[in-house]
Amino acid sequence: MSSEIDATYDLIVVGLGAMGAAVTYQAAHAGLDVLGIDRFDPPHHLGSSHADTRISRLAVGEGEQYLPFVARSHELWSSISDAVGYPVFHESGGFIVTDHGGRGDRWNDFVTETSRIADRAGVDFVVEQPSDVRARFPHIKLPDSVRVGFEPTAGLVMCERAIKAQLDLAARSRATLRRNEAVARIDPHPNEVIVETNQGTYRGGHVVLATGPWLADLASPEHRNQLTVTRQVVLWFEADDLGRFGVEQHPFVMWVGETDEDYMAVFGRPEGTVEAVKVLSEQFLETTTADTVDRVISDDEVATFHARHVAPKFDGISTRCIKREVCLYTNTPDDHFLIEADPRSDRITVMSPCSGHGFKHSAALGEAVVQQVMTGTSQLDLGPFASRR
Ligand SMILES: Cc1cc2nc3c(=O)[nH]c(=O)nc-3n(C[C@H](O)[C@H](O)[C@H](O)COP(=O)(O)OP(=O)(O)OC[C@H]3O[C@@H](n4cnc5c(N)ncnc54)[C@H](O)[C@@H]3O)c2cc1C
Repeated sequence: MSSEIDATYDLIVVGLGAMGAAVTYQAAHAGLDVLGIDRFDPPHHLGSSHADTRISRLAVGEGEQYLPFVARSHELWSSISDAVGYPVFHESGGFIVTDHGGRGDRWNDFVTETSRIADRAGVDFVVEQPSDVRARFPHIKLPDSVRVGFEPTAGLVMCERAIKAQLDLAARSRATLRRNEAVARIDPHPNEVIVETNQGTYRGGHVVLATGPWLADLASPEHRNQLTVTRQVVLWFEADDLGRFGVEQHPFVMWVGETDEDYMAVFGRPEGTVEAVKVLSEQFLETTTADTVDRVISDDEVATFHARHVAPKFDGISTRCIKREVCLYTNTPDDHFLIEADPRSDRITVMSPCSGHGFKHSAALGEAVVQQVMTGTSQLDLGPFASRR
């Protein structure tokens, strides 16, 4: 590796997934001389930011600390869509379903908590009778025993499109983007940070580390020890009547079951995406790494998934699976975010571990991190995401 400096920047962003793309765009927009580096060619399907769509809810049952970030992100998705000329967000509305007392409810009775947070924040969220929902969506097999709530302002962020849009806008504002280049080492000094890649050496006034499930490779031991990476599976099944599942007709459904692994979600289908219904579950039982994860999803795994998650809850979604993807969560011990200065230097900000619920907040998180880099403070409070909370 060369020890000569190839170029100097105000800010170097390592990793250009959801988080890094947002920071790079905001930094370039604010006039910083920014370099964004990614080991692959984002948007790509090897990290945590692929598979067409991500759920976004203004009533964020995960905690009130998230409310301003998702609200600001919705504003930013709208301005980004206007700037690039295609939508990166669809307001489909969304249902949340919980089985009464389901042990798997990581967020403690998610419908009740979402409803409480919505009331305080003035967000429209209606707790409905299951029979009323069944009358409108007869193919959702809701028993009378579940709690179900609906948020009309919820929707889907187009994940690859949002990343591409922000990287394109960043490039338009003169950001330098280096793709297919891997960062090997980050060396903090009192007045700068030196970033070495497999192709060169760069000097930055500040570095943002947004390497998602690869974060452990470059993080400090203090942060590395807090991270767990898990393999998640996303499947697309053909539908008897695909029109019924269009994003304009069909709100997403998040269904929390008996255990964490009983969770499942069904998504409305935006134009131009896979011609099938996207479904997913979650699992936290087996950990992995981004380099060693099994990226093959067998036919047996697909069949088991359908029998366990889809068939008991939905009519009209066939067993024919036409696309399958592995995606990765990077979790902290309490399932909240980890965004703070690196213990090695205040000139490095760590911002990737978002515990499987970060995309909806990513646009505003990028803006807040850039404000912190530029002024030492941000309009929205990043404090709740520090490891000492
Ligand atoms: C199946 C699934 C469903 C999800 N559903 C939702 C949802 O509905 N709503 C929601 O809000 N969130 C959701 N999430 C979470 C959300 O998608 C993630 O929090 C977010 O995408 C993480 O983005 P990231 O930028 O941190 O990581 P990534 O997108 O993985 O980006 C990290 C980038 O760093 C690059 N990189 C790594 N190492 C290096 C290196 N050494 N040098 C250079 N580049 C490097 C990688 O190539 C990659 O592009 C979901 C996640 C998954 C997996």
